[in-house]
Amino acid sequence: MPLIVQKYGGSSVADAGKILSVARRIGAVRQAGTDVVAVVSAMGDTTDELIELAHSVSREPHARELDLLLSTGELVSCTLLTMALRELGHEAISLSGPQAGIHTDTSFGRARISRIEAGRVRRELAAGRIVVVAGFQGITAEDDVTTLGRGGSDTTAVAIAAALEADRCEIYTDVEGIYTADPRIAPDARKLDEVGYEEMLELASLGAKMHPRSIELGGVYRVPIYVASSFSDAPGTLIHAVGNGPSDAFTTPITSDDTVPGRGGFETRPHTGDDTAENQMEDRIKVTGIAYNANVAKITVQGVPDRPGLAAALFEPLADASISVDTIVQNTGGDQSTDISFTVSRTDLPAAVRLVESVAPQMGAAGVVSAADLAAVSIVGSGMQNTPGYASRMFRLLANGGVNIDMITTSEIRISCIISEAQGRDAVRLLHEGFHLDRE
Ligand code: ASP
Ligand code: MG
Repeated sequence: MPLIVQKYGGSSVADAGKILSVARRIGAVRQAGTDVVAVVSAMGDTTDELIELAHSVSREPHARELDLLLSTGELVSCTLLTMALRELGHEAISLSGPQAGIHTDTSFGRARISRIEAGRVRRELAAGRIVVVAGFQGITAEDDVTTLGRGGSDTTAVAIAAALEADRCEIYTDVEGIYTADPRIAPDARKLDEVGYEEMLELASLGAKMHPRSIELGGVYRVPIYVASSFSDAPGTLIHAVGNGPSDAFTTPITSDDTVPGRGGFETRPHTGDDTAENQMEDRIKVTGIAYNANVAKITVQGVPDRPGLAAALFEPLADASISVDTIVQNTGGDQSTDISFTVSRTDLPAAVRLVESVAPQMGAAGVVSAADLAAVSIVGSGMQNTPGYASRMFRLLANGGVNIDMITTSEIRISCIISEAQGRDAVRLLHEGFHLDRE
């Protein structure tokens, strides 16, 4: 029997009516002869409310206690969904993350899955049951409950799909798929039929609403991930190995009979607008989407002596504290000293500043400054690497819109600019239009 893992996000199970309608959807799939493991997030804003509650009794809630508290949100939704399934006449059972055999490391609040012992889930499936698993949680070797980080239920779902070798993992959410930009920011954004893991990883880690680690896992274990709306039957977006594999996107010859939507068939695309036809073909092929992340903070360590080991001295403590650092810029001036700037997520800023301020004196640095009100806007697309001109085009579009660029980084498939958050949404619209992503 085919096996599908379906994940329903918090907005899809926000109230009793929605839980019942999710139960009907799952039941219909089971009835059609497919085994289903459902993974759920906490109802609506439950996780935010629990965090608020924790902060109302403690300035810095104890990490272990906070994780055990947060894990209750998903227990509520998974048990209610199971009751609803049973009410509809289906055999179903709920399992917490620990019961489902999800083992993690001990990093509370951002635990990583170390392995899944899927025996229990397999036995329940074999007994003909729909299995409903609480997302976002696991258990350490010392039997402490952990959570995987905000939005982590996506990662639970893909990890279970990988462990069970499911046919695919379906992520049901409140939008119809992956768009060329956030439709709430760029109303002209188009839905993508499919996207490669690598591109999606950039789109996810830069703002689109999926837990980045779920895409990473999907890519490594080759789990096809289908993202669609839980409220409609509109076709969603398939995240998979586009072409022969993500990295082949660079070399795959693009011909008019190429069956990959969004890449092939450019000979028939209408050439309209102000640019030359040639430029437009290139745009259509190279830039897949505009990613946006409004949760960016920057720390600058000023006047660091220019000698070996100082970057290591700075970043090792951050790594030890599991704070991920994104854009790093260091440039040595003429006076033998250097400024090191880097970005972290805004939530990590207070802890990062504390750590950096504690090592700065040993480094002989002149000072530490930070800013919390930044955003990252990126153009993403496999294939940009081999074509000059994308970066300069991006900078020109931003300049024409009066957007000042603070930092720039590039990867093989992405060019990102750190800008002020106040201009972030305008920047997304400028780039979406400037790279003609609004046109089919
Ligand atoms: N409930 C958790 C959160 O809100 C996990 C999830 O939704 O995936 O972050
Ligand atoms: Mg949630």
